[in-house]
Amino acid sequence: MNLAQLGEFGFIERIRQAVRETAESGVRIGIGDDCAVLELPPGELLLTSTDLLIEEVHFRSEWSDWRSLGEKSVAVNVSDIAAMGGRPRHLYLGLAIPSDRPLADLDRFLEGFLAAADEYGALLVGGDTCGSPGPLMIAVTVEGATPADQVIYRSGARPGDGIYVSGVLGDSALALRCLRDGLPPEPELAERHHRPRARVALGRALAELALPSAMIDVSDGLLADLGHLLRASAAGAQLESPRIPLSKSFRKALAADPALMELAMSGGEDYELLFTVSEENQSRLTALSGGVPVTRIGTVTTADRGLRLLGPTGRERPVDARGFNHFGS
Ligand code: ADP
Ligand code: MG
Repeated sequence: MNLAQLGEFGFIERIRQAVRETAESGVRIGIGDDCAVLELPPGELLLTSTDLLIEEVHFRSEWSDWRSLGEKSVAVNVSDIAAMGGRPRHLYLGLAIPSDRPLADLDRFLEGFLAAADEYGALLVGGDTCGSPGPLMIAVTVEGATPADQVIYRSGARPGDGIYVSGVLGDSALALRCLRDGLPPEPELAERHHRPRARVALGRALAELALPSAMIDVSDGLLADLGHLLRASAAGAQLESPRIPLSKSFRKALAADPALMELAMSGGEDYELLFTVSEENQSRLTALSGGVPVTRIGTVTTADRGLRLLGPTGRERPVDARGFNHFGS
């Protein structure tokens, strides 16, 4: 059986059958009508975000397996919901598929997609399917919800707030660097690149306690995403580079090549949460459970100070918030 024999509607039916709907999910109708018909818990706001994944731009089939790609396409979207303090609920999957694509690859992709959706408690409720004369394109939309008074925006950072990041930074960018150089990345790094995790539980825990004054997820790189948060908050920051959390594999590579620090600062696709916390709320951070470590990496300052980096020798210098820019050189 291939895609041409199955046809668009056969393919959609295959997806519909693979989705397991649960009674308590608030889905009146998922896949199968003109629209999904959905309920939100009373008093909650709808959070919506969408991301495109294009072959040769965001992924290469020779570097990734299809199941991981399915998981990743969910995680990178869900990460935006986590960054607002929300819980993901619904997913939409747009696929533009070259007609020669083996059905087995698409099945693996779907398997990964649905497994990740399950893991985050979200349901696939719709999408669109068509042929592509060019690359494979994956468009994922996620909807989440959160109590109206618990949304965390990028714009609330104030001078004196501590700057925190979850997990470790740079692993994904280092894995990509290895792949581009034709070297196999260490398994720990490859895992972080191909199968990133969205920090939903941490984002919810932070939002429930109303701890962050501002929050964003690190998708374009630490400096770029901190730059977005600071611009939205009309603030500056002092980042302390020795405090940036790094994995064992990253540290090992860094020891051999100190220039790799650049990847921890400006590489992308970490999908960690970057957030600011006021002085009086900082003691409450330690009470957070969930197993994801959180590290203080700097302090919010006034906008006129810009973004400054304090190095290991105690020297401070201004930095520009570079990160991945699709239209950059
Ligand atoms: P319409 O022509 O009215 O847009 P479609 O034939 O495109 O309807 O889709 C039929 C149903 O299948 C809709 O509920 C749509 O959301 C769903 N659907 C289509 N493609 C996908 C997909 N790739 N993933 C999930 N649901 C899909
Ligand atoms: Mg349609």
